[in-house]
Amino acid sequence: MFNIIIFGPPGAGKGTQANFIIESYGLKHLSTGDMLRAARKSGTELGNRVAAIMDSGKLVSDEIVNELVEEQVLNGGDEKGFIFDGYPRTVAQAETLDAILAKVDAPVKGVLFLKVPNEELIVRLLDRAKKQGRADDNEESIKQRVEEYNVKTLPVAKYYEEQGKVVDVVGLGTIDEIQGRIAGSLNKL
Ligand code: AMP
Repeated sequence: MFNIIIFGPPGAGKGTQANFIIESYGLKHLSTGDMLRAARKSGTELGNRVAAIMDSGKLVSDEIVNELVEEQVLNGGDEKGFIFDGYPRTVAQAETLDAILAKVDAPVKGVLFLKVPNEELIVRLLDRAKKQGRADDNEESIKQRVEEYNVKTLPVAKYYEEQGKVVDVVGLGTIDEIQGRIAGSLNKL
């Protein structure tokens, strides 16, 4: 199994680039944000439980997302590999992911770290708010998500740097240019 993480701040383009990787490499997309939004849309008990937290821009609990991911990975024996998008977002999640992947004997191969300057992120998030109407793309929630990222998620990069798994990708330029850089990095993993 070829398991990779696409990592970076909110608005870095993780979802867009994940889609490219899925198409080119046949990996399965595992986005905890998409899973939680789907749960909300279908009105499950879980969806109702996380709705207000998501809209505020805060992270939902590690237990909730870890359980979603574990279920997918343990049922994904036929997959070529996963691309984890928006997960792990805390060091505790990263430790759990490593434990889950150890069960299927397929560790994280690499972490693609999409680097985008802060000013550009805010512009992109506000633009997405206009286009997609996401409830958590308002200015207050954006501030909260950036804060959660800086405090809780950035240490995840360090966690994987210590394992020698992080590859930096410049997240500026056209989508094609960024795809080209990602392809170059993936071929080296
Ligand atoms: P995303 O689409 O990845 O930006 O996720 C949207 C929202 O879902 C986040 O702001 C969090 O409230 C929640 N969420 C998604 N993934 C996670 C995660 N790995 N840990 C905690 N909360 C998450």
